[in-house]
Amino acid sequence: MTKEEEIPDWVGAKEFYDKYEPKEILGRGISSVVRRCVDKRTSQEYAVKIIDITPSDKMTPQEIEEIRAATLKEIDILKKVCGQDNIIQLKDCYESKAFFFLVFDLMKRGELFDYLTEKVTLSEKETRKIMRALLEVVQFLHSQNIVHRDLKPENILLDDQMNIKLTDFGFAVQIQPGQRLKEVCGTPGYLAPEIIECSMDAGHAGYGTAVDIWSSGVIMYTLLAGSPPFWHRKQMLMLRMILAGSYDFSSPEWEDRSDTVKDLISRMLVVDPKQRYTATDVLNHSFFSQYVVDEVRQFTPYRRFKVICMTVLATMRIYCNYRRAKPVTKEVIKSDPYAVKPIRKLIDACAFKIYGHWVKKGQTQNRAALFENTPKAILLSMAAEADEPTHHIS
Ligand code: ADP
Ligand code: MG
Repeated sequence: MTKEEEIPDWVGAKEFYDKYEPKEILGRGISSVVRRCVDKRTSQEYAVKIIDITPSDKMTPQEIEEIRAATLKEIDILKKVCGQDNIIQLKDCYESKAFFFLVFDLMKRGELFDYLTEKVTLSEKETRKIMRALLEVVQFLHSQNIVHRDLKPENILLDDQMNIKLTDFGFAVQIQPGQRLKEVCGTPGYLAPEIIECSMDAGHAGYGTAVDIWSSGVIMYTLLAGSPPFWHRKQMLMLRMILAGSYDFSSPEWEDRSDTVKDLISRMLVVDPKQRYTATDVLNHSFFSQYVVDEVRQFTPYRRFKVICMTVLATMRIYCNYRRAKPVTKEVIKSDPYAVKPIRKLIDACAFKIYGHWVKKGQTQNRAALFENTPKAILLSMAAEADEPTHHIS
């Protein structure tokens, strides 16, 4: 190798270390580690994703080349989507023979995943704010024919004002209009049925942008229920649940949720991608037109009268329900504590406080595992196992 060819091997790394000082680890991926870093000149904090492409025993030269090509593709897409408010901004990037350094704005509040673990479930109002921003990003990406393919709460970061920033474009791809994809990638619980079908059938017609809407539906369900719609300790059974679109709104958390939000989720988690809502359809759904402040302010005398009538009726209904409600006695608490909402919330919050660190370790240690011993989940599991096939997806 000539001297000129050697220079690029280390020059990128030197430029990075000259400008930034790396600090503690914020997150890890298969071949990357994300650290906080500080610009030495301005003291401004950033996050750097360091992708390891060092030749080693663990990876074949072909695998290293694949990671290198994938990283160049990730950088290319990050540059294309730069400027959208709810997408993470790539500030700088450096390449050396052994590492890539991708410098991003630092999101101090971390992942939506951790925020949800702390809160257990989110309100419809908070879910609306997050999902509107997410769907606007998805709408923007799809208008550029970009499919993200790995939407999940771990890849949604929060800034100081609790605005979301979508990150991790490692699986993102820009397609030609009408082009279909066949590559199987993503995260099991968030995989759209058509991606799983591609893995089972070599002759499958492929999938497109609709896979991001499915994952968004899974995220929305998870934010409101605290646990995901499709999960089973045995991955094969979970994939079967996804293929059949088999989920329900029967957990106690759904009792307090509106029909509007359930309707929207059920239009995103549609097995047939042609029947599934697009990002624009989702944003036009009535769930997103609720609580528009301007609308409430413009009251005509007739509307004011109508609101007064509705308030009186609602008050009467609340009063009647209150009279009908069973008192929370010591017996009720002893026999079925989970049925009492404040106690249920307390139990869930304690479980997440104790086991929150544990839910992220791997596929079998999913957030849903914390809910799996409820009587209904045990019955479902027994029914699914009785029905388990003897063959496996290849
Ligand atoms: P991977 O492709 O390895 O999953 P990500 O880009 O998703 O890499 O980053 C991994 C994790 O690092 C994220 O889930 C998050 O916890 C953390 N992280 C990534 N970027 C940032 C950032 N800009 N600010 C704060 N944390 C970040
Ligand atoms: Mg990630």
